[in-house]
Amino acid sequence: MHYDIAIIGTGAGGGTLLHALAGRGKRILVLERGDYVPREKANWSTRAVNLEGRYQTKEMWRDREGQPLHPHTNYYVGGNTKFYGAALFRLRREDFGEIKHWGGVSPAWPIGYEDIEPYYTAAERLYHVHGERGVDPTDPPASAPYPHPAVSHEPRIQQLHDDWARLGLRPFHVPLGIMLDEGNPRASRCIRCETCDGHPCLVGAKSDAQVVAVDPALRDPNVTLLTNAYVAKLETSASGREVTRLVVKRGEATETHSADVVVVSAGAINSAALLLRSASDRHPRGLANGFDMVGRHYMGHVNSVLMAISRCPNPTVFQKTLGLNDFYFGSPEWEYPMGHISFVGKLDADTLRGGAPAIAPGWSLDLMARHSMDFWLTSEDLPDPDNRVTLDREGNIVLAYRPNNETAHQRLHAKLEQLMKQQTKCGVHGHECHEGLFSRNLFLGQRIPLAGVAHQNGTARFGHDPRASVLDVNCRAHEVDNLYVVDASFFPSSAAVNPALTIMANALRVADHLKSRLGI
Ligand SMILES: Cc1cc2nc3c(=O)[nH]c(=O)nc-3n(C[C@H](O)[C@H](O)[C@H](O)COP(=O)(O)OP(=O)(O)OC[C@H]3O[C@@H](n4cnc5c(N)ncnc54)[C@H](O)[C@@H]3O)c2cc1C
Ligand code: SF4
Repeated sequence: MHYDIAIIGTGAGGGTLLHALAGRGKRILVLERGDYVPREKANWSTRAVNLEGRYQTKEMWRDREGQPLHPHTNYYVGGNTKFYGAALFRLRREDFGEIKHWGGVSPAWPIGYEDIEPYYTAAERLYHVHGERGVDPTDPPASAPYPHPAVSHEPRIQQLHDDWARLGLRPFHVPLGIMLDEGNPRASRCIRCETCDGHPCLVGAKSDAQVVAVDPALRDPNVTLLTNAYVAKLETSASGREVTRLVVKRGEATETHSADVVVVSAGAINSAALLLRSASDRHPRGLANGFDMVGRHYMGHVNSVLMAISRCPNPTVFQKTLGLNDFYFGSPEWEYPMGHISFVGKLDADTLRGGAPAIAPGWSLDLMARHSMDFWLTSEDLPDPDNRVTLDREGNIVLAYRPNNETAHQRLHAKLEQLMKQQTKCGVHGHECHEGLFSRNLFLGQRIPLAGVAHQNGTARFGHDPRASVLDVNCRAHEVDNLYVVDASFFPSSAAVNPALTIMANALRVADHLKSRLGI
């Protein structure tokens, strides 16, 4: 059967685009390589999720040296949003312009903040974002308040907030996509549990792309979702200007499908790999890759998880409520951007066994977990053409990556260390409550850089110049008339806040373009 639109992948980009296009009379085919995440108690087991990697792909890639690399990524309906921490940030207004970093230049986007602002507002509404505007000093202007009030801090986090505020900083409530109603706990879908970040939500209260976007879209009888449907290749017409066939593997069987418009949204690494695997006589270096841009400029983020151990315990259940952006663009002593400080979900001993930190003297893993505040530090990863996705001879993914901008990250780390030493509010230990900062190695035993692939982006950047970008401003391939990419591949720079809301907002922006192209 021929469709009007085919969408490959159901994550933040594909799922959101589907939601915007469904219900308008067009026949939409959705191809997702994964299945639904099974609903089972293990969804909320840190042992199953973090230690045993129950839901992670078993797929192996290779690194630059040809060594095996086990990616920290998930293939399911809803994509990686099934597992995300749902911290839904807008990029800062300045992130859309060129910014000078210690480690190089973060290039300008071909659109400005004002072009995407209405879509940020719409995405925040769709994904039930809870937040507060105007406290974070880097907050960009917004045309509407957050649709829901900020998620409250638990006492230990509130204490840290107060300490930082007393130092003259401006900590803020992290914008979160969880369906929590603190005013009416008995009716609240979200129960504010400790297994949110990194875990699927057993009660469907996390605003992930399956719950919020794909499931509602499937009420439209014109939408067909095929799960366990791996898109292996895209084939074009003789001219090479249109995709005419999608070659899909389902178990042992191979099927072909066709559509007027084809939207790739397989995640930044898999989308690049799919385009490269789709090489043909007309596109010998890979589909839409006439200028050897596909797969280049891969970015993750410069991330680390730091455990601040205190003598007082940290009994917080839902820890990811506090953020600090005071050093996002620099500080009086250092004029370059450093990045963003927030939290991961509360770590426990099982999780630590899967990525053991340097042990604090005299502390067991269990004790450390009970006394730690678990920070998530993000600095910008700058686009480097040599950081790239390629394929080996068998068509498997090769990810070549060299970290950059690390001085900024070290500075951010030092800032946090300094702030933790200045805590005063502990009535028992005062300044002495803080024992130190300990890195947690996220990927113990796996040869991937700490940046990992959770925040993968940038492998098919959008831009005006077809020689320096893969996609045009509407995320359509410069070289193929009916091919779009709407996952994180389009980012020309990675900024230093979490990417998902920008992917969702951009998908809504591209959906508007497609609606006018298709006359719907
Ligand atoms: C543990 C974790 C925590 C995170 N926390 C946050 C957070 O708090 N805030 C935030 O902003 N971001 C967070 N992220 C990142 C966020 O989840 C991603 O940025 C986002 O999901 C990327 O969206 P996407 O559409 O680019 O790709 P994905 O969401 O990965 O979707 C890609 C989809 O394509 C499918 N697919 C891949 N290849 C094929 C193929 N060949 N054929 C068919 N289907 C295919 C995949 O199965 C998947 O469903 C987190 C990620 C992880 C893993
Ligand atoms: S119940 Fe709430 S806190 Fe727990 S996983 Fe679901 S959305 Fe997250």
